[in-house]
Amino acid sequence: MELKDIIIKRNVLLNPGPATTTDSVKLAQVVPDICPREKEFAGLMKGLRSDLCKVAHAPEPEYTSVLFCGSGTINIDICLNSLLPEGKKILVVNNGAYSTRAVEVCQHYGMPHVDLKSSVFERPDLNEVEKTLKENPDIAVVYTTHHETGTGVLNPIREIGALAHQYGAIFICDTTSSLGMIPFDIVKDNVDFCMASAQKGIMAMSGLSFIIGRRDIIEASKNYPTRSYYCNLYLQYEYFEKTGEMHFTPPVQTIYATIQALKEYFEVGEEAKFARHRAVFNAIKEGVASIGLKEAIKDEIQSGLVVSVLYPDIPNWSFEKVHDYCYERGFTIYPGKISTTNTFRLCALGTITPDDINAFIPVLMEAIDNL
Ligand SMILES: *Cc1c(COP(=O)(O)O)cnc(C)c1O
Repeated sequence: MELKDIIIKRNVLLNPGPATTTDSVKLAQVVPDICPREKEFAGLMKGLRSDLCKVAHAPEPEYTSVLFCGSGTINIDICLNSLLPEGKKILVVNNGAYSTRAVEVCQHYGMPHVDLKSSVFERPDLNEVEKTLKENPDIAVVYTTHHETGTGVLNPIREIGALAHQYGAIFICDTTSSLGMIPFDIVKDNVDFCMASAQKGIMAMSGLSFIIGRRDIIEASKNYPTRSYYCNLYLQYEYFEKTGEMHFTPPVQTIYATIQALKEYFEVGEEAKFARHRAVFNAIKEGVASIGLKEAIKDEIQSGLVVSVLYPDIPNWSFEKVHDYCYERGFTIYPGKISTTNTFRLCALGTITPDDINAFIPVLMEAIDNL
């Protein structure tokens, strides 16, 4: 039997990542054993780092990408703890669960920060952002989330980035749940650092995360306080520059899968890929509306990737039971992340199509009817 003849059950993941992958990406992990300190492996990572820059439209060498072994949250931790100069402050523009995670990172390291919290149902108010920057001239880092995966709200990052720069701060943007799925251009969007993990937009496996950003700022951060030993951007960057390798053991097989996934990304082309995600998203919206379910977020501010569905007002409603019914039939649905409102999420990540959604909606309806 050959690898290509292996039959792998296909699950349609409607959770916000890890996403459904192609079989060719799954199988790319089955490779001869290799020590990642071999030149051959460093060569693979060089191409990978370059391709990741291309996904973000980040011109090299002004921008570079740095790889880490960990889930996407490692990027939030690293960017914040590594890029804050002594005596300066971070502004977190916070309208959801993922920016709240960034606030928790600041708290954890005891880094001075302003938590500019606003409604999870709305985009942040740019006037408030500007006012905060004016009142706090010691803000050196502005941080926000591009696509708040907890709700599906898309934030105005280009405008926030412009304000950050106007007031002399750098702009870090969590693009974990948008990069490679909706348009993003690191230069035009005024972003100095963006980030993602291999298992979301790129559609590879979990365990590899990466930060793409400005080389001059990484080099300047050499003199900033080092708040973490393992999670430091400059140290990892410097090691890559000197040796072409990660400081410590990389997620070897995940890297093979990511290389294959990027090959497929460029073969499909970003425009076609964006259009497919959008078609899946529209199919989800039409599907939930057709069975009488309502959404929590208004259309105009949605990302085009996550649909937050309100729990229906029916007796015996049980998310767990609906989940289990769908799961047994190959569809994974996911709880919401809004503390004040009960929602569940249906997401358009991964290698799925509107046909998958058309197959899923009747299953969801049956699950509800069977409660
Ligand atoms: C998925 C995600 C992350 C990372 O979450 P992990 O569970 O650590 O992989 C970070 N930010 C956003 C916006 C995300 O959607």
